[in-house]
Amino acid sequence: MMNRRELLAALGGAAGLVILQPYERILLARPRFASNPFTLGVASGDPTPDGVVLWTRLAPDPFAKGGGMEPQAVEVRWQIAADEGMKKIVRQGRAQASPELGHSVHVEADGLEPARTYWYQFECGGVTSPVARTRTAPAFGARPEKLRFAFASCQNWPAGHYAAFRHMAEQDLDLVLHLGDYIYEGRLRPDNGRGQDVPVPVRPEPQSLEQYRLRYALYKSDPLLQAAHAAAPFVVTWDDHEVENNYAGDKDQNGSDPAEFLKRRAAAYQAYYEHMPLRKPQAPKGSDLQLYRRLKYGDLAEFSVLDTRQYRSNQANNDKASPRSAELLDPSRVMLGAEQEKWLKAGLTASGAVWNVIPQQLFMTQFANYGPKGETFSVDSWDGYAAERNRLMRFLHEAKVRNAVVLTGDSHKNLVSDLKLDFDKPDSPTVGVELAGTAISSGGIDPDKAPEWDKRVAAQPHLKWFEGVKRGYVTCTLDRKTYRADYWAVDDVKNAKSPVGKSMTFVVESDRPGVQKG
Ligand code: FE
Ligand code: CA
Repeated sequence: MMNRRELLAALGGAAGLVILQPYERILLARPRFASNPFTLGVASGDPTPDGVVLWTRLAPDPFAKGGGMEPQAVEVRWQIAADEGMKKIVRQGRAQASPELGHSVHVEADGLEPARTYWYQFECGGVTSPVARTRTAPAFGARPEKLRFAFASCQNWPAGHYAAFRHMAEQDLDLVLHLGDYIYEGRLRPDNGRGQDVPVPVRPEPQSLEQYRLRYALYKSDPLLQAAHAAAPFVVTWDDHEVENNYAGDKDQNGSDPAEFLKRRAAAYQAYYEHMPLRKPQAPKGSDLQLYRRLKYGDLAEFSVLDTRQYRSNQANNDKASPRSAELLDPSRVMLGAEQEKWLKAGLTASGAVWNVIPQQLFMTQFANYGPKGETFSVDSWDGYAAERNRLMRFLHEAKVRNAVVLTGDSHKNLVSDLKLDFDKPDSPTVGVELAGTAISSGGIDPDKAPEWDKRVAAQPHLKWFEGVKRGYVTCTLDRKTYRADYWAVDDVKNAKSPVGKSMTFVVESDRPGVQKG
């Protein structure tokens, strides 16, 4: 890492290539820090062929009021280099960290080369951040030979350690997709699964912006999560726990007045934006935040990142498992909402990509349970919005969408499935593949119940693999012929140093429907 004098010298000695960002003409405080302001790490995200978002949040005392910052704006400098030693600076500038956004910084750096690895670093008040790695996307017209990324979800802090992120940070990845449950909002107890008490202000279930900020500060303090962010750009989307368990649009699970709940949602959404490497179009507008968006990796892959919480209808059957019913098949009940559905279909129709990847949250495949009351379905996942799901399956079939691969979080289980035009008919056309990944740390199924789950899966031939005991994440290696998914499993989630090993590999061959064991 570069020391203060080197950084200031590099900033001062404007080489020919260096272009300063437009500098906002306001009076900014020059802070003096008694301790490191970069306690929450740094991150990058949403790569394009010529740029990437750089993120940090100043918090010298992360669990104190305002993260330990005075309530005034300060200036943060940033640099992007072609080398890890931060000697060959290619871009640099200044950004404002304001108290209105929790002293977070979102720099939309541009002017970079496509498909290149870069390193970046922040400086504020004479203190430099760690140096972190990022990577731009290939040029829009490019025909890339290879892409390698990871996807992950569900990192309940009190449930265990982030050995999965430690392992992920050691991999050479073009990007990481985070599919939600980045935080959990539940009340934190002193006797949690980490055996590590949390500061008192962090304990209550967050309702206000300040409380959500504290919750993110706790999660972001984890060194292994910071290492994963420092190793590759993240593309994030959310699920329910970023706000509240199983919320749906403007409805919480307690039947609160929607107008009241939307105030809480606005606080949660703002805290989410403040802590994620997101671009300006994703800045919150009141209780709204447009998170669904598309990223392109040349003609090799397109990512249509979905938001299945903000626009959805309330869960059917009072959020309890339900048999097939007119309610589940009511076409007006939606997960995506009309606008997002239209946007998704338009993008998939126009896509020239070999792989059409759809990162999202809930099981999209049909997944029946067979209990004493007969066949039932989860109503929080796509089975609870079967009409919209079936409509999407029909679209994938009729529009001949090439190589649709749905990536899924939420369930804390590994599940590999063919997506069918008609899930009740095994001979029905396969219209895509779903790869669901287990949680980073959140609890899975009881090992004693595994045989029951296996029986349930065996009865549904479109389901190819199920495993719900292990924690972990998934890496995907794509070339123009093959999509390979490697499932990684953590031995012991209670141990940050736990070994992580490969548990299973699945492959999809381009233009051949269905997923196979690799
Ligand atoms: Fe979860
Ligand atoms: Ca969830």
